[in-house]
Amino acid sequence: MDDRSPITTRADFDAVVVGAGFAGMFMLHRLRQQGLKVRVFERGSGVGGTWFWNRYPGARCDTESMEYSYQFDDALQQEWNWPERYSAQPEILKYANHVADRYQLRPDLQFNTQVLSATYDDARHLWTIATNDGKAVSARYFIMATGTLSVANKPKFAGLDSFKGRVFYTSDWPHDGVDFSGRRVALIGTGSSGIQSTPHIAEQAARLTVFQRTPNFSVPARNRPLTDDERNATKARYGELRNFTYQQPFATQFHLNDVSALSVSAEERRRVYEERWNGLGGLHFMAAFNDLMFNGEANKTVAEFIVDKIHAIVKDPKKAEILAPRNGVVGCKRLCSDTGYFETFNRDNVDLVDVSRSPIEEVTETGIRVDGIDYPVDDIVFATGFDAMTGALLGVDIRGRNGLSLREKWAAGPRTYLGLQTVGFPNLFMVTGPGSPSVLSNMMVSIDQHVNLISDTIRYLDSREVLAMEPEQAAEDGWVSHVNEVADLTVYPTCNSWYLGSNVPGKTRVFMPYVGFNTYVARCKDVVANGYQGFRLERRDAATA
Ligand code: NAP
Repeated sequence: MDDRSPITTRADFDAVVVGAGFAGMFMLHRLRQQGLKVRVFERGSGVGGTWFWNRYPGARCDTESMEYSYQFDDALQQEWNWPERYSAQPEILKYANHVADRYQLRPDLQFNTQVLSATYDDARHLWTIATNDGKAVSARYFIMATGTLSVANKPKFAGLDSFKGRVFYTSDWPHDGVDFSGRRVALIGTGSSGIQSTPHIAEQAARLTVFQRTPNFSVPARNRPLTDDERNATKARYGELRNFTYQQPFATQFHLNDVSALSVSAEERRRVYEERWNGLGGLHFMAAFNDLMFNGEANKTVAEFIVDKIHAIVKDPKKAEILAPRNGVVGCKRLCSDTGYFETFNRDNVDLVDVSRSPIEEVTETGIRVDGIDYPVDDIVFATGFDAMTGALLGVDIRGRNGLSLREKWAAGPRTYLGLQTVGFPNLFMVTGPGSPSVLSNMMVSIDQHVNLISDTIRYLDSREVLAMEPEQAAEDGWVSHVNEVADLTVYPTCNSWYLGSNVPGKTRVFMPYVGFNTYVARCKDVVANGYQGFRLERRDAATA
């Protein structure tokens, strides 16, 4: 096939990539540019990953469109016109398809194919990847680009199978849409997906009953159409803006007010919060002061502000009390950004059931029972989230050196070096894996950084005839400790959230993402500059000696 390595000739592919979302598509593009033979397996019938599956009404990105896009090709970012400040799911999916066509990715994408297992052969330095069509292929590199929020958390309520109505999951929404006209709908879950879909379902349904376990903080998105002038202004300085985001802790252009919330008077704080609430809105809200995510006392000030807002918006005091997160820490669970969520509870056809103290008892043939009370419904919508960060990785039976099982290795939580690799699994790379900033950053920027890092690494390994790369044990242990140390400087570990895996029954509670995109990027650069410090590189001469 080529003159790089005889090992290449023994593999079906240089690299197999799992997932054709934004990470997998870019990974394919980059590796093909390097002349590698790549196959991407995707369980869906199209590209787009999370945006392929999450088609629920109101699905929209809460990172600004001009930032939630690829940056690898200036021509692409100049030619694409995002219509709104925050893009709706259909627009993002259109963009994903445009990219697949523009870079002629489709010949190397194999849809409707689920990867079941991947097994490393120590002697041949090859991965064997088995798929649900009964076939298997070999590859030198195995790259999981499976996303962080891609395996649904589906609570197993007693009696669910007996329910006679329709059941939907926001994370796997019917492609033809759903008509709720004249229906009584139950919605379970009030995270981003539930909060986004509630106003839309309420508009259509005869009755909507929202079942809330934990009250959530949400701020108005302030979405609106983008003007030509706004788009052009960004495009004129795209390079500069992209560089700027690479230097930011959340890889996004939050307008940070670089003072402590506790250093100003209560009146001044309120003025700043009001300005953010009414003006920029969205996740920018948490940049109102520089210590909201680091100092519990500072966080309380913003929590009180939002609780007051909920009470001002929601007319029924009982509903307002249930919706307002008392003693909550803003941003500890990921902050939501909405359009008319709390206002929806002022509609006559919307009810709210608090299931925090009495959980949902069972699903009956005709509805949902809580605390002995039956709520008759025709449809149930589950917006109950994901087995985040590790769900998709452990969904594949991955076996490394000597048959080591990733599921077993990570039984007490994921262990990686830089969220890129894990000891015992040579040449397995994870795009935005646990231990990398991923979900605590603009995902498109994290994907850009990881895909570039992985493809540069593969070029490095191939050029030096390295057969296998994996972390050193000490580097992995040190990184896992560091991820936790940094998290402990923040308010993140102070509540139950999917960042900690505590939303999934039985999952070990451990903080998974890395806080601080800019420091992470600097660390990666150092590691590379020091000859992949912390990684063990097995060279051909050593292997054959
Ligand atoms: P989520 O934030 O994990 O919310 C799941 C909801 O379901 C929570 O309210 C949870 O309650 C509830 N729940 C789970 N199991 C339950 C049970 N057995 N009984 C009752 N309630 C139960 O999931 P999500 O809303 O899909 O969002 C996940 C993440 O996806 C977001 O945080 C965000 O990162 C991303 N996302 C982003 C956007 C956007 O860009 N705007 C949109 C959608 C999703 P508890 O809180 O008590 O666990």
